[in-house]
Amino acid sequence: MYDIAIIGAGPAGASAALFAAKAGKKTLLVDNDKSMTKRAWIENHYGVAEITGPDMVDIGKKQATKFGAELVTATVTNVVKKEQGFTVETEEQGSFEAAHVILATGALTALAEAIGVATTEGKEPRIKTVFQTDASGKTTIPGIWAAGTCAGVSVHSIITAGDGAKVAINVISEINGERYVDHDVLKTN
Ligand SMILES: Cc1cc2nc3c(=O)[nH]c(=O)nc-3n(C[C@H](O)[C@H](O)[C@H](O)COP(=O)(O)OP(=O)(O)OC[C@H]3O[C@@H](n4cnc5c(N)ncnc54)[C@H](O)[C@@H]3O)c2cc1C
Repeated sequence: MYDIAIIGAGPAGASAALFAAKAGKKTLLVDNDKSMTKRAWIENHYGVAEITGPDMVDIGKKQATKFGAELVTATVTNVVKKEQGFTVETEEQGSFEAAHVILATGALTALAEAIGVATTEGKEPRIKTVFQTDASGKTTIPGIWAAGTCAGVSVHSIITAGDGAKVAINVISEINGERYVDHDVLKTN
């Protein structure tokens, strides 16, 4: 049983996976390589002078797996509520059990119908439908969260990555029963 399964490894999902895995949570990251970010050339991401979208996505996945997130290439077809947690079903790689699920599927929200989470109209250009969430990232099914473009935030890499981090921190905090922060300190002589 994974503590947290994240669907989508674009900036939102990989950022969530990096925080979850670095916090010591058993983390699954499932992605089917359809990130819109792979079409971008990015010069507006704070702290990064310029980067291609494919490089950003590749580095994000490597950061997440470096801390122990398990990356699986597959299309998620459904997330089914069990007595304890959820079963994440995939087309190609079977199914996985997880206590919490974070949806980070970018512009793709077709999964909503199978899962049964509520959606609402997207406000961002070209984003027609998003998962309905509260301010913490909770969807209408307890234990299923959403982050990034699919949760309706502004469609920019720094904001979707930040939202993935925010939602992961909220999930980690809920699991731990207290607010969680991840601060590494610069070593000086
Ligand atoms: C042409 C273009 C140029 C852009 N230029 C910029 C720019 O200059 N600056 C900027 O800040 N932003 C730019 N953006 C926007 C940026 O890409 C997005 O704001 C943001 O990074 C999206 O992140 P995300 O993680 O929400 O979605 P995505 O990056 O789309 O990631 C979603 C992931 O979910 C996966 N997924 C979806 N459904 C499933 C499923 N059922 N099973 C498994 N995996 C699934 C997809 O394969 C994908 O990898 C640009 C976008 C485009 C299209």
